[in-house]
Amino acid sequence: MSATLPYPWQQETWQSLLTRFQQGQLPHGLLFNGSAGVGKRHLAQCLAEFVLCLAPQSDAACGQCKSCELIRAGTHPDLQSVSPEESGKAIKIDQVRKLNGFLGQTSQQGGYKVAILAPAEAMNINAANALLKNLEEPSAKTLILLISDAPNRLMATIRSRCQAVAFAVPVLAEASRWLQPLCGDHSPEALLNMCGGAPLAARDLLDDGRLEARLAFAKDLNEMANGQMFSLQAASRWMDAEPLLLIEALLTWLQSASRQEAQTQSIQLMDDEQALMAVLHSVGVKLRFRLYDKLLQSKAQLLSGANPNQQLLLEEIAMDWQAMMATRKPMRPAI
Ligand SMILES: [Zn+2]
Repeated sequence: MSATLPYPWQQETWQSLLTRFQQGQLPHGLLFNGSAGVGKRHLAQCLAEFVLCLAPQSDAACGQCKSCELIRAGTHPDLQSVSPEESGKAIKIDQVRKLNGFLGQTSQQGGYKVAILAPAEAMNINAANALLKNLEEPSAKTLILLISDAPNRLMATIRSRCQAVAFAVPVLAEASRWLQPLCGDHSPEALLNMCGGAPLAARDLLDDGRLEARLAFAKDLNEMANGQMFSLQAASRWMDAEPLLLIEALLTWLQSASRQEAQTQSIQLMDDEQALMAVLHSVGVKLRFRLYDKLLQSKAQLLSGANPNQQLLLEEIAMDWQAMMATRKPMRPAI
């Protein structure tokens, strides 16, 4: 078995982390931040394996030793991962108290103790406060890795006690090269564009019918633009999809329309998306920005775990879209 290796676009970040670790200059608290789907959690895993490995190679864990075996089995006593017990919910104070207990003990294998919290912004205030002490006065040989897509939602006191490691979206050519063998007949560039260039998010689109749901959504929006479907009918068709997926799709299309108009770069799109671009170009920029802001708010609401009424949310999106379509010139033919 081999160790977990960084993705190709992570080499620079990886080497920098390794060098600092080998020189004894890696701080005990690191905040891995950047867009969803660029591999932050993955690199944290690589780093945990490397730090705990009993016979590390120059740039990766050995993948063979007792420690590497235990990590693979998910039973390494010196590695703790903390995530919400239920997806989309908070990391609770009890979970952090348990983690503090772990961090307060001596390591079982005589080396480091590593904690990974993901997503770190899911810590509620009490949980974050409970973690502060360990970030302020860590015991020796402790590494706390906080993973966050939205570091601005973390308490400032948490942020200030960690060193930020920013994960950028890789350049398109590199991400495409990696994605190509995984995406069958689909264009890797079009998939990447759907996900703001985040390669793992693009890969995940191919799972569980997410891509199909997204393209069906584009088709419905086109039909609404042509007066072939109305808002409530559309909203009821979207009930089976994840609202976040639809909101993110529409956000990306609105961005793509603006990028096309600014002609900053050519954008590869799938057919239904291309048709949608023509529709968006016929709508005033201000209205598009207004919809964009509103969608961002809905997205934040969904991510905060507030659990908004899904049907109302979808109906509102559908009605906003229909209202926006009614402003187009020339007006769509009356039905
Ligand atoms: Zn090893």
